[in-house]
Amino acid sequence: MTSPDPRGELGIVLKTAPLRESDLIVTLYTESHGRLSAVARGARRSQRRFAGALQLLVLGRHRLARGRGELWTLDGTDIEREWTRLATDVVAVAHASYAAELVATLVPPEVPDPEVLSLVVALWDSLAEAGPSPGALRAVELALLDLGGHRPALDACAACGRADLEAGVVFDPSRGGAICRSCAAGSRGPGIRPLDPAALAYLRAVAALATPAAARSVDTDPRFTPSDRTAARDALLAMIGLLVGKPLRSLEFIAKLGAAGRRDEP
Ligand SMILES: [Zn+2]
Repeated sequence: MTSPDPRGELGIVLKTAPLRESDLIVTLYTESHGRLSAVARGARRSQRRFAGALQLLVLGRHRLARGRGELWTLDGTDIEREWTRLATDVVAVAHASYAAELVATLVPPEVPDPEVLSLVVALWDSLAEAGPSPGALRAVELALLDLGGHRPALDACAACGRADLEAGVVFDPSRGGAICRSCAAGSRGPGIRPLDPAALAYLRAVAALATPAAARSVDTDPRFTPSDRTAARDALLAMIGLLVGKPLRSLEFIAKLGAAGRRDEP
């Protein structure tokens, strides 16, 4: 089977790894086939057929053919749109890398969903227009958790469904999100943390704003303190950590940037 569109499949590169002397294994997220891995023959020796498109921050047209087994063959790529000028902003690159790593780990292989590409492109647009934003990253995390079938419960207790979540709420990633005071006694798994009303309100605000660009507004919302933002971030990271089951390299890099005093610690 070859690509139905002669210009190639619209998609983004999630990661690349060397294969043999001259080939690359490229992990892509494509509009029509979702996440897949493809061999790009000769791509380490010559980038001619790939026109510099096998990198982060490029929306490409990938000429793909199904190979034997799970690996596809990537014959060439053209650039459809690119945001590579962001490459000079180390924080922007860290945020873009994190989104790519989330797609590579949270989204199941070969299950196409048009929302995934739009979401990543929306994050890149938001980075290009207004720079890195913790609120935008939270929107990406929530959207990808949702697309993977793991949207955290924020409006009602994940265990009993009670909607009046007030003081005493915990966030329990293995039970699916916010847990009311009565059910909290049954929470004993990993990653459980208290979730005070302001941190919960922050997560609800991000969920309601939906797009990365819109979610930037929580960065400067006077209702939320830095510790509310941190608590909300840590709740989502606990959920992602439980699902992924290993440390995300891009996230460790973002934490290092934060520790080194760079702006916009997520
Ligand atoms: Zn409950």
